[in-house]
Amino acid sequence: MFQQTIKKRVEVTGIGLHSGEPIKLTLEPLPINSGVIFIHANSGTLLKLKPENISETKLATVIGVKPNAISTIEHFLSAIYAYSIDNLKVTVYGNEMPVMDGSAISFCMLLDEAGIVKQDAIKSIIVIKKEVKVEQDGKVAILKPSKKPIFNFKISFNHPVIGTQKFRYNFSKKSYIEDIARARTFGFARDIQYLQSINLALGASLENAIGLDDKSILNPEGLRYKDEFVRHKILDAIGDMMLLGKQVVGEYVAVAASHELNNKLTRKLLSSEDSYEIIKAKDYESAQELVKVFA
Ligand SMILES: [Zn+2]
Repeated sequence: MFQQTIKKRVEVTGIGLHSGEPIKLTLEPLPINSGVIFIHANSGTLLKLKPENISETKLATVIGVKPNAISTIEHFLSAIYAYSIDNLKVTVYGNEMPVMDGSAISFCMLLDEAGIVKQDAIKSIIVIKKEVKVEQDGKVAILKPSKKPIFNFKISFNHPVIGTQKFRYNFSKKSYIEDIARARTFGFARDIQYLQSINLALGASLENAIGLDDKSILNPEGLRYKDEFVRHKILDAIGDMMLLGKQVVGEYVAVAASHELNNKLTRKLLSSEDSYEIIKAKDYESAQELVKVFA
């Protein structure tokens, strides 16, 4: 398996979830061994993918330190994992990624437009060797050894439309686009009203989230999947794991985990050296399997 970047520069403009303003995003190819690098265009700040570069995890995953930070990177990074992108320059002309439709599908389409190209260097992956677990207030997130990437999530909400949802997802690029990428983020109307009263979530609408009141869904078009909520949690988890800087190969298991817990999990993994190994993909025992799922 070779490292990958995009064939050509592409750009898109969309609304920022918090600012409500249009934000431009450009993607450009980078040479081998560069990694995925975010540029906060207004300040020129360069931000590499690593768990310690995450400054906030309350409403979304935020990379960099304010005012030179970029918020809500997780949906974009989820698509980067799915498309096996190793090297990419991501320039954001604002303080947050455009929210698009609240899922990752627009980023997948942007990557399709750019085209993916193999580079002249072997790809590295992070393989889980020993289980790592973080827990907080009844929430759990785990990474454990598995030959193929698996994302296993359970949520329980005391809400008639959500309830308890479980999904054990065997990752492949093809199934990601069909089963995960279109799952939208969700929010409760009362929370949105509060956030807007403190000048946050100004761009939030039923165009970029599933909105819920106490009993039902507010979106006239309904859900895209019956269990769209847990699928979106998987989308988020894939994006949060991409902060390791390389694709992780193992099984992620979570109960009600948040961006905060995901960030703690990646930090704990990197701080326990015997729990993971960075290896060349061709040397991985199930390399052939990986070629199939990442193809
Ligand atoms: Zn999300």
